[in-house]
Amino acid sequence: MAAVARLDLGGSPIAPMTICMIGAGGFIGSHLCEKLMAETPHTVLAVDVYNDKIKHLLDPPAYAEGQQARHPWDGRIQFHRLNIKHDSRLEGLIKMSDLTINLAAICTPADYNTRPLDTIYSNFIDALPVVRYCSENSKRLIHFSTCEVYGKTIGSFLPKDHPLRKDPEFYVLKEDASPCIFGPIEKQRWSYACAKQLIERLIYAEGAENGLEFTIVRPFNWIGPRMDFIPGIDGPSEGVPRVLACFSNNLLRHEPLKLVDGGQSQRTFVYIKDAIEAVLLMIENPARANGHIFNVGNPNNEVTVKQLAEIMIQVSGEPPAEVPTIDVSSKEFYGEGYDDSDKRIPDMTIINKQLGWNPKTSLWDLLDSTLTYQHRTYAEAIRRSMAKSVAS
Ligand code: NAD
Ligand code: UDP
Repeated sequence: MAAVARLDLGGSPIAPMTICMIGAGGFIGSHLCEKLMAETPHTVLAVDVYNDKIKHLLDPPAYAEGQQARHPWDGRIQFHRLNIKHDSRLEGLIKMSDLTINLAAICTPADYNTRPLDTIYSNFIDALPVVRYCSENSKRLIHFSTCEVYGKTIGSFLPKDHPLRKDPEFYVLKEDASPCIFGPIEKQRWSYACAKQLIERLIYAEGAENGLEFTIVRPFNWIGPRMDFIPGIDGPSEGVPRVLACFSNNLLRHEPLKLVDGGQSQRTFVYIKDAIEAVLLMIENPARANGHIFNVGNPNNEVTVKQLAEIMIQVSGEPPAEVPTIDVSSKEFYGEGYDDSDKRIPDMTIINKQLGWNPKTSLWDLLDSTLTYQHRTYAEAIRRSMAKSVAS
């Protein structure tokens, strides 16, 4: 625990608070819990259906001789295994807290077109009671949306060689100015983005009409350790995680990395530990964060998916497959109804002005530490599972 009182950006001491974190057992939640336990005096009521990724924070450490087994943060994190779809305990937990952070969602693109109903329910319907309980009980809410609410860039509708495609006005994504451009309804990929957009609009309206104190976060491809799962190791064999885990899995199995539709889409990747700093600033500076929507990404880390594959092959140091990458159609990889965001460059003006936050970690460095983690965590299990399938 921090011995010296923490100060907010205005120089005032920050009072310890209780945070109801829904989806705390996921990728982002696990890093946020770690940060809150290690560096702040705040208490977390961690809500999720799983806790594997935060077990190391919950379980007492190995018993040292003559010592009581304790974490330095003992008593400041409690896990509540509950499904927010149907659990009456949720309102009580929100009432006990000063702040609610909602991270719960189905948020893997492979689900958007294959499980559109679950996707819409999870990202819109299931979030409704959370917003209502916060509004009715005058509790602050930090809600996790997505950069995907921007959809496609304006520039993507111009001819391929049009000079305006290079004009930032046609591609940089601004919270208070850019439109949200989705494909047709039959492209069910957009079910997620559309559900997230509607919950953003509802939260915004609760703020405008009923005075809800809210902050909306739009993550731009946060990546790092503990993201998603490796198919057949700690997730379903047929499951399709997000690109970091897909490529890590391919690398560790020494198989070609699959480039969907040639890997021409562009993304900006930000290191989870940089992004968590931004969330902590939001938590501890309500006066500067309330009422705002924040892009959280790293505009300097832009690559095509193909370039990402090439860099990951280099960084991993794994002997690449004979053919390092192969092109696959999106229909083959994701099924009917897939579509893609072409380019995602976050405008950083608002987060810079309100919170003074800037990302630090280069793409190479964040991949280096993340792939070291992936290797340490999965290489042996993958080797054993491959040996077993050869033997049988
Ligand atoms: P994640 O899947 O790792 O975490 C989500 C967690 O929510 C999971 O642990 C899951 O068990 C839990 N959850 C889902 N439904 C629940 C329910 N009904 N009841 C209780 N718990 C439930 O995802 P993540 O990457 O940590 O993302 C967190 C949030 O950030 C999501 O809202 C996502 O849409 C948003 N987001 C993340 C990224 C990114 O780069 N990681 C990008 C855009 C948006
Ligand atoms: N992708 C790919 N190969 C894979 C997995 C993903 O080419 O094995 C592509 C996907 O089509 C998209 C990008 O990588 O263009 C990022 O996908 P991700 O699932 O990480 O999420 P998104 O950024 O689309 O939300």
